[in-house]
Amino acid sequence: MTASSSTPSRERAAVADACRRLGAEGLLIGTAGNVSVRVDDRVAITATGAVLAALTPDQVTVVDLDGKHIEGSYEPTSELELHLGVYRRYGTGAVVHTHAPHATAVSCVLDELPCIHYQLLALGGTVRVAPYATFGTPELAGSVLTALEGRSAALMANHGAVTHAVTLDQAVEHALLLEWACGVYQRAASMGTPRFLDEQQQLAVIEAAIARNYGTTRPMPPAQEENRGSR
Ligand SMILES: [Zn+2]
Repeated sequence: MTASSSTPSRERAAVADACRRLGAEGLLIGTAGNVSVRVDDRVAITATGAVLAALTPDQVTVVDLDGKHIEGSYEPTSELELHLGVYRRYGTGAVVHTHAPHATAVSCVLDELPCIHYQLLALGGTVRVAPYATFGTPELAGSVLTALEGRSAALMANHGAVTHAVTLDQAVEHALLLEWACGVYQRAASMGTPRFLDEQQQLAVIEAAIARNYGTTRPMPPAQEENRGSR
């Protein structure tokens, strides 16, 4: 069964929700940026020319992994090949591309964002800056795919940022984290020469995170729960 373009599927609604959230957080300006989610061999992706902060599900187009149109009334984003390339090479579940201000500023200066904070390890540590190429070109898609090797994020020189993850929520969180880290870098660099975590410090963070199951909520240990209950 194929849903009609007037009956947006769950994925199209999820992409619209993600865009509105990224817009509210200041990461999507006007029509710049694009977001997609993959379910099996279907990719729901934002339409070209749509105002992303106010995106509606009918402005999300569904294509297959070769870019063939499946559902939706609007042409997909000009960065379609970049998104499809990330799915093909990394088998991921969602891709977010923004022209977020801090990430874009950093992409104009650095060749790589060093590991300025341990939270960057959630993206793979240092974040590479893919060399500049015209938007929507295979050259740009190729250099971004290379920059993403072993990472969940990359910056695009004089352009913006891209993140990916297994779920759309995670890809959005990665975009927010990268933007925050780029902001921290800029503020730190404005005061002096920032310190960065070296490889040993990064490794220790990864070991501690694994040991403590960092980033997940956990129920209180039974003993403490009993203490609280007896008060
Ligand atoms: Zn762009």
